[in-house]
Amino acid sequence: MRKKPFIVGNWKMNLTLAEGVEFAKSLRKSLQNKNEIISGICPPFTFLKDISRVLEGSSICVGAQNIHSEKNGAYTGEISALMVKDTGCTHVLLGHSERRHLFGEIDSFINAKMKTALSIDLKPIFCIGETLNEREEGKTKYVVKNQLKNGLLGIARNHVEELVIAYEPVWAIGTGKTASPEQANEVHSFIRGFLTDEYGKDVANSVYIQYGGSVKPENTKELIAQPEIDGLLVGGASIKLESFLKIIDAASIQ
Ligand code: PEP
Repeated sequence: MRKKPFIVGNWKMNLTLAEGVEFAKSLRKSLQNKNEIISGICPPFTFLKDISRVLEGSSICVGAQNIHSEKNGAYTGEISALMVKDTGCTHVLLGHSERRHLFGEIDSFINAKMKTALSIDLKPIFCIGETLNEREEGKTKYVVKNQLKNGLLGIARNHVEELVIAYEPVWAIGTGKTASPEQANEVHSFIRGFLTDEYGKDVANSVYIQYGGSVKPENTKELIAQPEIDGLLVGGASIKLESFLKIIDAASIQ
């Protein structure tokens, strides 16, 4: 049986607190009878507590956009897993391509963050994906496999089972270029195969594999119709309530 699509919005460094709270209130209202889908939003850190309050008791998840791997200490400017969990968050984006490429985050750091998050039951949305060069050189599967291997190193089977993995080709993020549904499905299928080989079929099937990269209302239906695409991670189009709701609607009608 197919899983309920899991649609998550990554607001990145956008909106004001007031706009974010209004958005969350309207989203809650609009989705109150929508049981065929799971949704979530990842607002900036300073919105998390207010937005978690607005969404408390609803089925809409709240995620942070990052954490540090250490639980506490002398890390000026950083936020710990416990701090974000305290705000009411259930999820956290880890390994997002903007963190990897703009802030130099490497696999071992991401792996340490994954372990810290899982140790306090904060669910990672683990982002992986190849750059344009890597795709053009035919290295997509090699890159994705390495990111999976290194990111999941030492993580127990029962924790892998709970993961959300977001396949986000770097060349499709914020560029308006979407991977074709078939291109995305092929990589998703490869990811599922990797998980099956490493952890068995049951674990592989329970992992949510989202696609991310210029998802819009217009391309949602054909992406979500692919058998290996369990959900979507939406950046730009999740900042406007109208387009985010259209994406959620299109993903619910299959
Ligand atoms: C993202 O940031 O995860 C993302 C997919 O962005 P966009 O939808 O804007 O490409």
